[in-house]
Amino acid sequence: MKKLKVAWNDVYRHPLPDNHRFPMLKYELLPEQLTYEGTLDNSNFFSPSPVAEELILKVHDAQYWNNLKTLNLSRKEIRTTGFPHSKELIEREITIMGGTVECAYHAKENGISMNIAGGTHHAFTDRGEGFCLLNDQALAAVDLLDRKAANRILIVDLDVHQGNGTAEIFQSNDAVFTFSMHGANNYPLRKESSDLDIPLADGIKDEAYLELLVTHLERIAQEFQPDFIFYQCGADILETDKLGRLGVSVAGCKKRDEIVLKKALELEAPLVCSMGGGYSEDIKVIVEAHANTFRLAQDLFF
Ligand SMILES: [Zn+2]
Repeated sequence: MKKLKVAWNDVYRHPLPDNHRFPMLKYELLPEQLTYEGTLDNSNFFSPSPVAEELILKVHDAQYWNNLKTLNLSRKEIRTTGFPHSKELIEREITIMGGTVECAYHAKENGISMNIAGGTHHAFTDRGEGFCLLNDQALAAVDLLDRKAANRILIVDLDVHQGNGTAEIFQSNDAVFTFSMHGANNYPLRKESSDLDIPLADGIKDEAYLELLVTHLERIAQEFQPDFIFYQCGADILETDKLGRLGVSVAGCKKRDEIVLKKALELEAPLVCSMGGGYSEDIKVIVEAHANTFRLAQDLFF
């Protein structure tokens, strides 16, 4: 029987000092909420294994990975990532990476699969930044291509911040199409070139946002014809987000997810969702917006 498989285990809990906890809390609250309300039960969750080092080295620079895992990055490099490094943090990161890689194969079985973390799109070939150390969707995409499990992969990045690391990693890879819709005036100030970038004005509302998404997603679907889709479904596009600057409502954010999920169904392209950012003042709003993506997955796919 087909089932929504969701990557999560205890390692996802944040091994971080208190002053870094807030944005990470959702990774505990989200599975609790989804289980409590009955959207997911224990049979939906799977516990991912850490990603293979061999795969990391196909995407990331060997020197960078070596310094990262041995906690030997420079202080400046660590500061750019946004949080203090520890053995536990690296263990968490490689487990989340393994989650997205395994999700890809669950998605091939079931149509869709989701990771309760990931979307670490600011991780470049040779550096991390913005709370991202390694790039989960890039690792999973390269794994699929290597195993000939997919040939034309679309990465739909709708986090409010540009998927700059993902764009850089796939700069010269024609098998992967990178599509990023993001705040024009938001981090990163120096943007990379995705295959398609749609910069958004501050304060953009549901209607204008969704119209842009529908138009461009439709065009990409026709021209690129993906056979696999990764979706970075960051909830930092919300009007309540402390960093986002956009004006999208929770209902608009849900509609956004619906558009992407329905497109994957229509194309019969397996879809993997990674969570991405979300920094609304009220954590309940963040959890609600992310929970909507899982509720939609259950409604539309199963
Ligand atoms: Zn973000």
